[in-house]
Amino acid sequence: MTSGPRFRFAPSPTGMFHVGGARSALHNWALARRLGGTFVLRIEDTDEARNNPEWTQGIIDALAWIGISSDDPHFEGPKFQSANADAHVAAAQRLADAGHAYYCDLTGEEVQDRARELGITGYDGYSRDRGLEPGPGRVLRFRVPDGETVVEDAVRGTVTFDNSTIEDFVLLRGNGSPVFVLANVVDDIEMAITDVVRGEEHLPNTPKQQMLWSALGHEPPRWAHVPVLVNEQRKKLSKRRDKVALEQYRADGILPDAMVNYLMTLGWTMPGSEEAGSEIFPWSEMEAAFRLDDVTPSPAFFDVKKLIAFNKQYIKNMGVDAFVAAVDSELPAEWDRARFREIAPHIMERLETLRDAPALVDFLFLPDGSDPVVDDASWDKAMQPDWAPALLAEVTDAYAEHDASSWNADTLKAAIEAVMERHEVKLGKAQAPVRVAVTGRSVGPPLFESLEVLGRDETLRRLRVALTRLGD
Ligand code: GLU
Repeated sequence: MTSGPRFRFAPSPTGMFHVGGARSALHNWALARRLGGTFVLRIEDTDEARNNPEWTQGIIDALAWIGISSDDPHFEGPKFQSANADAHVAAAQRLADAGHAYYCDLTGEEVQDRARELGITGYDGYSRDRGLEPGPGRVLRFRVPDGETVVEDAVRGTVTFDNSTIEDFVLLRGNGSPVFVLANVVDDIEMAITDVVRGEEHLPNTPKQQMLWSALGHEPPRWAHVPVLVNEQRKKLSKRRDKVALEQYRADGILPDAMVNYLMTLGWTMPGSEEAGSEIFPWSEMEAAFRLDDVTPSPAFFDVKKLIAFNKQYIKNMGVDAFVAAVDSELPAEWDRARFREIAPHIMERLETLRDAPALVDFLFLPDGSDPVVDDASWDKAMQPDWAPALLAEVTDAYAEHDASSWNADTLKAAIEAVMERHEVKLGKAQAPVRVAVTGRSVGPPLFESLEVLGRDETLRRLRVALTRLGD
């Protein structure tokens, strides 16, 4: 165990792993590592109706994917909130014994009826002085003191809550089960958490939790509430409206490094990025530079287009071996990996996501003897110029003169250049009929490298098939 500050990431396993959660995890991770502290992963699994063990594994896998590894010495856990249920109840009991909490026998409906009658919102403190004993159906409520609660937040500064706006909130439900705010605080105390860094949506819980820390006899932790993520319409990202699951982005071919880098830009600007004219930085530099004081409290736009632009950069700049390894799961099992490796360097800068790769090069992996499928519009457009059939025939002849030993991108390009000069056509145009004949598409990776990888025999075979079709 390290001796520095103790951070935690405390997700509830109730669904796919949200990108906002991933960003909070990264913030905690960066701080724990930079400050020589600890990152505790606590799975808040007490909501039995909504929990699913599959989601827990999903969280652990997703964290590993973004580089938060359980093998790292700064990592502690996973711990499970459900394992600590007795401590939650015991803490509630201590609060009751010390007079910080009291039992109340009103049902939820009765609370609402009273509120309506009194013209107030929430619970009015009806049972504060009734001295009720615990019993079935009785909830335990915290006795919110008069005055105000001042929360010092590293992102938001001093946030003052008037306690009169906070009702005597429930700690134990009528069935004796602890509520989130209590379990969360008891666990944080027990795990000796010094810093709570989490999403803005938990700010309203914070005065209650700070009161609980004090009532349980502890100095509250340092708080930081990082800004909410919003979509293009400036609405909070929601799983009904928006693509929010990290797993989905992973499945769609986003690289983890690109995701991590992009998430770190949300609400925070890497010092020096303006001068550098780029927001692309390796994790080690972001980890060294990240400060909560520099996080802005205003909502951050999660811009999928920008994420993809980051991804494009990352794919372009990664090594070929790393690319080949990363893209492997996108490729059909039967594709020859050695052949893919040959074309890989020529497609890397054209990809927005890993998932785009197969469609770009599938013409290299057709079953033996099958011809590329070409749509009529692309065919007609490429073959329409009056010079196209002759050029195609002459290129085929010129290519046929090369044997495998001189079959490479340079000689193939030189051969087409000689032909096109005779037809007074520029290279860009001259490539079109060849490309469509051989690849079945009007766009794709660089043509001559593609032909080199495809090989002499198959290239010539496809060119001849196209010539036959033109002659029909
Ligand atoms: N389990 C809570 C959630 O997933 C997090 C609570 C916290 O970070 O304090 O929203």
